[in-house]
Amino acid sequence: MSTSHDHFDLILRGGTVYDGTGDEPFSADIGVTGDRITALGDLSKATAKEDIDVSGMAVSPGFIDVHSHDDFHVLSSPDVEHNTLQGITTVVVGNCGFGAAPYEVAAGRLGDLFELPEAVKPWDGYAGYLATIDQVKPSLNVAVLIGHNTLRLDAMGDNQEVPPSIDQVTLMAGWVAEGMDAGAVGFSTGLIYEPGRFSMTDEIAAVATVACGYGGVYASHIRNEGGGLLEAVEEAIIVGEMSGCSVQISHHKASGSENWGRIEQSLELIEAARQRGLDVTADQYPYTSGSTRLAAVLQNRALTDGSGGFGLVKSEDVLIATAPGFPTYEGRSLASFVNEWDLPAEDAGQKILDEAGENVYVVIFMMGEGDVRRVMAHPTTMIGTDGIPAGSKPHPRAWGTYPRILGKYVREEGVISLHDAIHKMSGMPADKFQLAGRGVVREGAFADLVVFDPDTVIDTATYEDPKTPPTGMPHVIVNGSVVVRDGVHTHARTGRALRRGRE
Ligand SMILES: [Zn+2]
Repeated sequence: MSTSHDHFDLILRGGTVYDGTGDEPFSADIGVTGDRITALGDLSKATAKEDIDVSGMAVSPGFIDVHSHDDFHVLSSPDVEHNTLQGITTVVVGNCGFGAAPYEVAAGRLGDLFELPEAVKPWDGYAGYLATIDQVKPSLNVAVLIGHNTLRLDAMGDNQEVPPSIDQVTLMAGWVAEGMDAGAVGFSTGLIYEPGRFSMTDEIAAVATVACGYGGVYASHIRNEGGGLLEAVEEAIIVGEMSGCSVQISHHKASGSENWGRIEQSLELIEAARQRGLDVTADQYPYTSGSTRLAAVLQNRALTDGSGGFGLVKSEDVLIATAPGFPTYEGRSLASFVNEWDLPAEDAGQKILDEAGENVYVVIFMMGEGDVRRVMAHPTTMIGTDGIPAGSKPHPRAWGTYPRILGKYVREEGVISLHDAIHKMSGMPADKFQLAGRGVVREGAFADLVVFDPDTVIDTATYEDPKTPPTGMPHVIVNGSVVVRDGVHTHARTGRALRRGRE
């Protein structure tokens, strides 16, 4: 325990501490020395190089975004403002099967949206990616999942619509071993996307088993979030049981109005698996719309018969978020193109892809509000943004996820308590993804901290104007340095590559 006459680098005075464990809050000053929290209690007699008065404010661990696609963005825009301004101090990248290595394949997907500066050179494997993070030093910490789609493209080239050969499975398994050796936190699939959708359960389990040998997580954008939701959740659980992995169901939802309510049974499947001893959890962003690749919407027949993984989606419920080279398309509904071009929705979508290329992203209204609340309130759900901050009209979740939960769902609607919400944003993901020394406010932990006003914090990002920071969240601290002060980014870049289980 520290003594009251200590001298610190930073003291946050007079706040109410939500420590990330899910326990009730308590009043305490927080003393920071270097990158660590070194005192918690009454520091009224202590001094510091920098004092911040946070009376009336909540102080919590920095938020851990378990569902990030910012693999390239953290290198191309290392202030990562859309994240840091909403209190995120760590991102887990590599979700939905799209990973950062091998570089040549990875750069062809997410890399097309985020141009890397000259100084950032192609990296060799996941070890190279994590080393590049440490070189560039973004404003937040980065942990990484190994993406199956990227490995499959590397191993199988253009011939994707078949099972892999033994040699090709061995190649994928080799990359997983490389990544896990380097400190990755697990393995992800995106089974609604190409080429993941061509893979069978036994292929996935075979590759996942390598990650699980290291204690990694299996995170899956499951095969179907529409009419086949339950079978798809079962598949993720089976992969967990075959491989021995702890399982993370990505952005847990029921998509397509004909499927709303199915989330009840899907939560029951998760509960049943947990009772059998399997560690199954999920993540969520707090909106009734999702965002994905337009190509995937067409591949899943969402605009025609709804037989694929999205259920049925109407063209008026699809907004163009990102259309490289066609900025005037961004923000428009697909229905407006259907009218202008006098084409069926499917054909209008294909025409946009033909013009703007495969990296067109859309916002889709596909979820029921009741389901969103039910998932949020469930103890197995943690929070992630799934943000893709490209183009002029990205989904507002990239800027608004955390303040929206704290303002709308905690304060205004009481869907969950504040201490539960904080747990889902910090301690719970730190445990799941083995981020040692993170996700809690206690002496000895890393000083990743967020200060917000529980009475006013709220998101401001909308579909029309999606790139706006929250209000009521003045300060964010990463590894002991103030990265956001009074709502303004300081350009401090103190983030690090996080390696599984290592401080
Ligand atoms: Zn996904």
